[in-house]
Amino acid sequence: MAREYLKKATLTAKSDATETKKIVREILDDIEAGGDEAALKYAAKFDQYDGEIILSEASIAAATALVPEKLKRDIQFAHANVKRFAEAQLGTVNDFEVEVVPGLVAGQKAIPVTAAGCYVPGGRYSHIASAIMTVTTAKVAGCKNIVACSPPRPDVGINPAIIYAAHVCGADKILAMGGVQGVAAMTFGLFGLPKANILVGPGNQFVAEAKRMLFGRVGIDMIAGPTDSLILADSKADPAVVAADLVGQAEHGYNSPVWLVTDSRALAEEVMTLVPELIDDLPEVNRDNATAAWRDYAEVIVCADREEMATTSDDYAPEHLTVQAEDLDWWLDRLSCYGSLFLGEETTVAFGDKASGTNHVLPTSGAASYTGGLSVHKYMKIVTWQRATKEGARPVAEATARIARLEGMEGHARTADIRLKKYFPDEVFD
Ligand code: NAD
Repeated sequence: MAREYLKKATLTAKSDATETKKIVREILDDIEAGGDEAALKYAAKFDQYDGEIILSEASIAAATALVPEKLKRDIQFAHANVKRFAEAQLGTVNDFEVEVVPGLVAGQKAIPVTAAGCYVPGGRYSHIASAIMTVTTAKVAGCKNIVACSPPRPDVGINPAIIYAAHVCGADKILAMGGVQGVAAMTFGLFGLPKANILVGPGNQFVAEAKRMLFGRVGIDMIAGPTDSLILADSKADPAVVAADLVGQAEHGYNSPVWLVTDSRALAEEVMTLVPELIDDLPEVNRDNATAAWRDYAEVIVCADREEMATTSDDYAPEHLTVQAEDLDWWLDRLSCYGSLFLGEETTVAFGDKASGTNHVLPTSGAASYTGGLSVHKYMKIVTWQRATKEGARPVAEATARIARLEGMEGHARTADIRLKKYFPDEVFD
């Protein structure tokens, strides 16, 4: 492999993991022991907030009144698209039954979990779209209790547009609490909330670590950490668009990797000139994030040909993958590791992030090598059932008894024996 790195990352998402684990463990243990009061203590400490925790209908109405009409229509548009896509996904989860042996029928059922806890990040940016993505999919999946939680701004509370989005998309309760304390409140059922069966949604390293630690007693969608993006571009790609797309994703956070993989050295060099100029032109907070992300985490890789580009991309297993190259069908067919794929210049990661309908809660840090993103399937338990006639039970009981005895599980074998004796009293079984 002849990959040439014109720019290589000096840091990775794993860099500050040990300290984060320590902090999160301490907060979780404290809240589990101390309940509501302990959670409130951390809300005051990290978010300087001591206002309403579970939003009342009056607060939701007041927030709704603050959202400009045009933004409301945009939120409704995005909600409709995410809902349409999720409904199509729901159609692919089929219950079925099959006669495995004559007289024994087995089946599969998809049952939605009862209570979903949707984390909507709100530290750096107000992730309105995360409310749409998580709550809408939970609703379409059929969850009966949906809690949306998001960090309040100091003394002010959750951004009104997040409240509006969560409400419109179907949240049953809105919890004004962020970080580990928000995740813990939904898991432990604090403040009168139902205990979540599953926690979904992206968040910073504290949120991701809390979900990882709580996994087992509660389900999780995935560990969605700092966002990452890879662009595959050939010599026909527009360097200005490629550079804008890289910068657009680098602004997520100081630790959000963006990668460019190309077979055109000329394109790579032009993009590397343009990116710092575009970053300089951003508002201050966005500029600081993008500057650090580009400096420490970004990579520019020149490959020999498109086959090597595709292999490189699959090795990185990016959360977001964009192709700005010829022959999009070839790429769609060839690529296999990504959270969400954006084919061609006419669409872009931000479309999927905000409003095009596919979900933006996606696997990060290489997790796309083993999982896709948030979908209605994540809220579903795929369970099985069976029933049999006496004749149908017979061959299965005989095989079960022999296998169980060989395993040394005499009690199991006798559950088969008792049936054979009862249903076929005149026969001898060995
Ligand atoms: P956040 O809501 O995840 O975190 C804010 C909370 O972090 C605060 O409420 C606070 O309680 C807690 N916190 C802050 N400093 C702390 C400390 N020192 N100790 C303990 N807790 C602390 O918001 P954010 O920080 O803006 O992060 C959002 C993240 O979500 C970003 O990394 C972004 O890239 C990611 N994201 C990912 C996707 C995806 O699909 N993968 C989508 C949107 C956002």
